[in-house]
Amino acid sequence: MTPTDSRRSVVPPYLLRAVAAASGFPRAAEAARTALASLALVQTPKHEHLVAPRGVSGTVDRSPQRTISDARGTTTLPGTVVRREGEADTGDVAVDEAYAGLGATHAFWLDVFGRVSIDGAGLPLDATVHYGQDYDNAYWDGSRMVFGDGDDEVFRRFTIALDVIGHELAHGVTQYTADLTYQGQSGALNESVSDVFGSLVAQYAAGQTAEQASWLIGEGLFTDAVHGVALRSMRAPGTAYDDPVLGKDPQPATMADYLETTDDQGGVHTNSGIPNHAFFLAATAIGGYAWQGAGAVWWDALTSDTVTASIDFAGFAAVTVDVAGSRFGAGSAQQSAVQDAWRTVGVLD
Ligand SMILES: [Zn+2]
Repeated sequence: MTPTDSRRSVVPPYLLRAVAAASGFPRAAEAARTALASLALVQTPKHEHLVAPRGVSGTVDRSPQRTISDARGTTTLPGTVVRREGEADTGDVAVDEAYAGLGATHAFWLDVFGRVSIDGAGLPLDATVHYGQDYDNAYWDGSRMVFGDGDDEVFRRFTIALDVIGHELAHGVTQYTADLTYQGQSGALNESVSDVFGSLVAQYAAGQTAEQASWLIGEGLFTDAVHGVALRSMRAPGTAYDDPVLGKDPQPATMADYLETTDDQGGVHTNSGIPNHAFFLAATAIGGYAWQGAGAVWWDALTSDTVTASIDFAGFAAVTVDVAGSRFGAGSAQQSAVQDAWRTVGVLD
């Protein structure tokens, strides 16, 4: 059966399968088999479909409300609470990175888009660390973030990369806005939106312009044993890793290399390379801080009434061109940059 990636995990099933087959990394192979089995077993979490208020009401608490729990190597959620909002560093690096990462993500959404937490209404941000033994993934389960420690042969701890935390929480934002169906092109858009805003969270925290940003997703997750720099590259999809064990990064950058597959919910982690690259092209053409240019356009699109849950690449691209005109002016340089980006990746004619 095809593993059901309903947990919105950061490591796709094809990558876990490659690690599971690795003979040189017994600990990593065992960890990857466990992570794969958990993907296959889990059912889609059921949540109420909540339509969050677009504006901020005066009664919403604008400060983050973080609670970090420790599963202590088990798979029982949520685990024991180890750090609440306002409490000092614990000295446990995973606890403290998760706390800081949730705070940086909350600050990004509030400062840049005036959105209070992922639902726009101050939803408390909960996370569990030290999930499972050598667990090779991080995921958003519909209500909390869960981080594995990694196996230390292929993957390091999953709290290490701020963009991964931003990516997972962006799945929450998507859940509360366009609610893009996690299958096929709308699923690849769901993944891409998480890479876009995950990268922007990291860029905002570092004060980087589009030119300065690495445009990598999951930089630092791989150990030194891996021939690769990250899970994905928005600048050059398909080049993030090329490794004897993991294989080569399979992401396409353009529609010419679009992957037709039934694996991974119809290639949601592979074909996301195409809208990812369109975003990179638009952001770097516009220049400056990406969250003020292309990021604002993508946010307008995600919250537009014209984006349906099952929208395809071309439909989403058309909405971004439209909202770029609304925000920056019809015929503006920003709108042209967005349109040109989608043409370059072969989504628009
Ligand atoms: Zn994801």
